[in-house]
Amino acid sequence: MTNLILLGPPGAGKGTQAKRLEQRYRIVQLSTGDMLRAHVRDGSEIGKQAKAMMDRGELVHDNVIVAMISDRIEQPDVERGFILDGFPRTVPQAQALDGLLKWKRRELDRVVLLTVKDDELVERISGRYSCANCGASYHDANMKPKVPGVCDFCGAKDFRRRADDNAETVRERLKNYYGQTAPLLPYYREKGILREIDGMADADTVTAQIIKVIDGK
Ligand code: ADP
Ligand code: ADP
Ligand code: ZN
Repeated sequence: MTNLILLGPPGAGKGTQAKRLEQRYRIVQLSTGDMLRAHVRDGSEIGKQAKAMMDRGELVHDNVIVAMISDRIEQPDVERGFILDGFPRTVPQAQALDGLLKWKRRELDRVVLLTVKDDELVERISGRYSCANCGASYHDANMKPKVPGVCDFCGAKDFRRRADDNAETVRERLKNYYGQTAPLLPYYREKGILREIDGMADADTVTAQIIKVIDGK
């Protein structure tokens, strides 16, 4: 069983790497951002509440997020392991996750931090678009699908851009990352499971580094 957190600012490459790790280790990506966007599209109660916060680049309330993750982690496809992407984002979320895993008798193996400079994050987010079917991330300049217009992972031909991927919202999201999410670094460092990787490298190099961290355990 491999249980992993991918940590890092918006645009660091968490989603991109999670998709690759899903295939390699046959574990599942749990992206709270993707789950919330599905709620928004469905027009659910959670979606209605979350949309305004997401559009402003603010964090959605911890209790909503924790409830969503705790339901998802119960599903049978998570049995072999998970890659948490975009969760936890606050210390209370990390504490709730600890409680959940303890109760399920599961352990966190590694927390992998992807570090990327702010200017590069803005650049990456401004050019980001993703597969409408599976959520895989692409970039106008850096990361195009191998076959133009066709998702590498699922073969779908529809792509979309996120409403919150614009320059102003990105600044707000970065501020919230440094204020509310960065305190998770000492939290996991103290547990001895945090590993830092240079997220500025090309995506293949980053994948190789993460694999080293997982397999070297
Ligand atoms: P990114 O990959 O760019 O960091 P996400 O897709 O993870 O963005 O998240 C998009 C938005 O969804 C966030 O700006 C926030 O409003 C909300 N969100 C996602 N995950 C969480 C979380 N764990 N806690 C609070 N809000 C979240
Ligand atoms: P996150 O999930 O952390 O918000 P994404 O995986 O969605 O980040 O990546 C953000 C953007 O940067 C996407 O457009 C993606 O194609 C691109 N990207 C991801 N990894 C790299 C990389 N190593 N180098 C350059 N661009 C990248
Ligand atoms: Zn796809």
